[in-house]
Amino acid sequence: MSGTIIIRAQALTAFVAALFEAAGAPKAHAERTGEGLVAASLSGHDSHGVVRVPRYLQAIADGHLDPQATPATLSETATTLVVDGRSGLGMVIGRETMRRAIEKTQASGLTLVAIRTSFHLGRIGEWAEQCAEAGLVSLHFVNVLNVGGLVAPFGGKERRMSTNPFACGIPVAGGEPIILDMATSRIAEGKALVALNAGKHVPEGALIDAQGRPSRNPADLYGPPQGALLHFGEHKGYGLALICDLLAGALGGGGANHPGHPVTGAVHNNMLSILIDPAPTGGSAFGLESAAFIDWIKACAPVDPEAPVLVPGDPERAHRRQRLAHGVPLDAGTWASLTEAARALRFTPADIAEMAGVGRL
Ligand code: NAD
Repeated sequence: MSGTIIIRAQALTAFVAALFEAAGAPKAHAERTGEGLVAASLSGHDSHGVVRVPRYLQAIADGHLDPQATPATLSETATTLVVDGRSGLGMVIGRETMRRAIEKTQASGLTLVAIRTSFHLGRIGEWAEQCAEAGLVSLHFVNVLNVGGLVAPFGGKERRMSTNPFACGIPVAGGEPIILDMATSRIAEGKALVALNAGKHVPEGALIDAQGRPSRNPADLYGPPQGALLHFGEHKGYGLALICDLLAGALGGGGANHPGHPVTGAVHNNMLSILIDPAPTGGSAFGLESAAFIDWIKACAPVDPEAPVLVPGDPERAHRRQRLAHGVPLDAGTWASLTEAARALRFTPADIAEMAGVGRL
């Protein structure tokens, strides 16, 4: 890939953390944010990785993102937790809230958690992974408020909803967890941004232009005039996206997308999560049954002998192994936007090369 640079995960994490610290985040928040964004890049979700850094820094400068905020408890019972993310860094708000929710679930068996108005919670699979590492099943419904919509409802040609992701994590006895983590749009918006930066097309069926015509050009999404993303699976993906807005936004209390909420340009996520301790209902039988089922699925003869059947979570793990060993590739556009953001924070080109370890590769 021409113009691509490759950076070791550790150096990239330190680089991103340094930028957030320079922008006013406490050291621990800056480090957690570096870790979370680089984990997304390592997982192959470049759209939710370090490509987001300049936007996050801009949001801090615009007052939409408070890098010092921690989650504030709005209500709590033995089985529920509602927090206000106070426009804080999503990697910090998500991690801390899930930590508390995991503790509660280990005591009660089941917890309903609502996070309201966090800044972007990033790769939602990160929260399912955190729960699965603790041996818990989890479901996560997310909406994005305040972006003015991106996705057209099935049959419509105007933007009405966000890319409303859904994630589910299931620990599997003796194996890797199942982590289903997906936008309800055919592609995540960040993937259109990555395609735009890299001068590439998006897959067919991913977006329409402002007139409602199918397009593969990511520039048609951003306009002007702006087009819209489409849901995966036509009316089915649309239905799940609707449920995400209703559960994360309306039931969780942070708000669903409609004109009653002023659009400020901030990327605010609401997330409604359900954490389940499998011990009371399934216990070891659940573990064994899941493992047997996954083995059976993976033993399915593949259409292409070179492409074995995978389960959700496998592609991310494969990316992590490869990128941890060989470094994270960043296209020229992404690297240019990161270095520009660093220079705006008064880092010199020598600082940047040193921090990111570019000169040493
Ligand atoms: P994707 O299409 O790359 O993957 C979706 C799921 O399919 C994953 O669980 C993956 O493991 C699984 N998968 C992929 N290939 C597979 C195969 N061959 N066999 C079995 N399973 C397979 O993901 P996406 O929809 O582009 O979403 C990308 C990221 O964007 C996600 O991490 C999501 O949480 C994030 N996102 C976040 C927001 C937000 O507001 N915070 C909004 C939208 C999306």
